[in-house]
Amino acid sequence: MRFTKTLIPTLKETPQEAKVASHRLMLRAGLVRQLGAGIYTWLPLGLRVLRKVEQIVREEMDAAGAMEVLMPAVQPAELWKESGRWDHYGKELLRFQDRHDRDFCFGPTHEEVITDLVRREIRSYKELPINLYQIQTKFRDEIRPRFGIMRGREFLMKDAYSFNLDQESLDQTYQEMYDAYGQIFRRCGLGFRAVEADTGTIGGASSHEFHVLADSGEDLIASCAECDYGANLEKATARASADITPTTSREPLTRVETPGQKTIDQVAGFLKVPLTQTVKSLVVLADGKPHMLLLRGDHTLNEIKAGNLLTGELIIPEPAKAAQLADLPVGSMGPVGSALPILADSALEEMGNFICGANDDGWHLTGVNWGRDLEKPRFADIRNVEAGDPCPKCSAGSLKMDRGIEVGHVFKLGDKYSQAMGVVVLNDQGREQTPLMGCYGIGVSRIVAAAIEQNHDDNGIIWPMGLAPYQLQILLLNPKQTETREVALELYQRLIGHGVEVLLDDRDERPGIKFKEADLLGIPLRVVVGGRSFKQGALEVQARAGGEAQQVPILEGVQTLLRELQGGGDDQLG
Ligand code: ATP
Ligand code: MG
Repeated sequence: MRFTKTLIPTLKETPQEAKVASHRLMLRAGLVRQLGAGIYTWLPLGLRVLRKVEQIVREEMDAAGAMEVLMPAVQPAELWKESGRWDHYGKELLRFQDRHDRDFCFGPTHEEVITDLVRREIRSYKELPINLYQIQTKFRDEIRPRFGIMRGREFLMKDAYSFNLDQESLDQTYQEMYDAYGQIFRRCGLGFRAVEADTGTIGGASSHEFHVLADSGEDLIASCAECDYGANLEKATARASADITPTTSREPLTRVETPGQKTIDQVAGFLKVPLTQTVKSLVVLADGKPHMLLLRGDHTLNEIKAGNLLTGELIIPEPAKAAQLADLPVGSMGPVGSALPILADSALEEMGNFICGANDDGWHLTGVNWGRDLEKPRFADIRNVEAGDPCPKCSAGSLKMDRGIEVGHVFKLGDKYSQAMGVVVLNDQGREQTPLMGCYGIGVSRIVAAAIEQNHDDNGIIWPMGLAPYQLQILLLNPKQTETREVALELYQRLIGHGVEVLLDDRDERPGIKFKEADLLGIPLRVVVGGRSFKQGALEVQARAGGEAQQVPILEGVQTLLRELQGGGDDQLG
């Protein structure tokens, strides 16, 4: 492609609204333009990258035995009412009506549509397992669309759905998808990690997320340095910390005055005790009713874990509001003598002689012990793990925390949708059986941003070969000079003839601008035609990723570049 014929509207200034590198660079390199909050147009260069991701995803899905379909973006409300999600999905679901006042939504995901298709078309166990996928535009009315296309409202997703007769078959398809995902992200040139993920209310079932590790990631990932344990913070568990010393003798229960000490840090500071000896009490609402959650003073609540354990929607009110709901004093709430149902974090089970609120304004209790001063409550893991916590899988390691961008998600759904929507097939005994489902998503457009997060420097993008919009860029320094123009054009034509994807910068711009923008666009290999090298009969070849520039005799240009691309690239050219 010739630069003068395409649309690559680069920006010199850094756009104010862009907070992360990928967003800044996607705007500056002219890959996308925003139309509205979380809604973007893909320009020619960006679209080429998006298509590369799609193609890799498509090839690997096909290789793993999935079949491509294309479902409608607009979905009738009736299907969502059948699954129960019309009422539960909330405001992320974009709803609207047609001219007959019938309710519709713009699909944020396609479990309902695929389940409806399969219940109509599949009758026999002989047709299972089946795995159907699409690459399609989704709309989710995200509360905070941000970071450009990383968290858009309209975005491109690959979603696959498998239908399996039994658990063993589902396990197998799940593993095939898991492996295909690894293959996809490797081909995209991404550093990634597959981690255990929360399965929400479906519980028990298995789920893994694939994360691209990057400082700008919105998710926290816990992993062990010694073994392969890895989990999203939402789900990560730790063995009980080693820093608890078992209580050998019980201190007497004592009321102590703590005037004006409202937070657990203030109380610990005032009483001159470590936070690890304190217990903090939180009042939350589950299904509209108040509950008390207990955590060690230095730990933080994991809302997802607590939400999965309590019935109904979990609401965490402001401290003042919570105190009012429970009719207890702010800053001095505690479990002793409280009538609220209590859920305590497992880390508290072995604790003794701890300190907690006395349910009396400005007072706390010290020397509190289970069994003597209050009944043992229900214990469960409801806290966030922290760096340094012991690994739950191996005995040797401790957990470290990294930031990740979720680019893929595989999930064993079980019979949630097939049951609710009445999918049945006849098994080999001629009896009706409800198949199990798995769903497998990839954020196709998000991968583009994630790849840039991992591959850039101060000057611009450094595309991994597998995703680069073009493999090679020719910088024709002076398009008005006949000799260099002819050499550049011939090189361009011959490389295209060999199947190379080439961008020829034939603009009438200063060389300085061309070099700068070549760095910004990040095309892996750059060839300069012009300047001092040209006078010496050579082309200057340089990789965007760094390293020495090579002088290549003009006559050997094509062969050298083909060799470079074959050696340096991870695919293409064959
Ligand atoms: P997140 O936690 O980031 O909101 P999710 O759990 O809602 O993601 P899924 O429903 O599993 O996402 O969707 C499958 C994939 O689609 C995700 O792994 C992610 O890569 C991508 N994705 C989800 N929401 C968005 C979005 N708003 N913009 C771009 N990609 C998205
Ligand atoms: Mg989401």
